[in-house]
Amino acid sequence: MIQLTTATKIEKAINKAHTMKPLVRVNTFGSYTVTNKQTGATYTVECSKREGRRFAACSCKAGERGQACYHIAAAASAHIQLAAERAALTC
Ligand SMILES: [Zn+2]
Repeated sequence: MIQLTTATKIEKAINKAHTMKPLVRVNTFGSYTVTNKQTGATYTVECSKREGRRFAACSCKAGERGQACYHIAAAASAHIQLAAERAALTC
């Protein structure tokens, strides 16, 4: 589990996500399945918010070691977009 703070901290992961262009599927709000299109491998990313801080965890090896992997970067951007859409709907 990693804490999502500033974008610069996961910048490398974001750059890799842009290169890999993984497929992000929404399971439920906060739970995403990320597929590596090249290998077909799928990983589960869980995003949560506690005390105003955002956290994310990935089922891949890097994620299990608490590293910001590109799956987290890809899922987090989808999550933030979804959260913004939800916020807009409740206005
Ligand atoms: Zn991962």
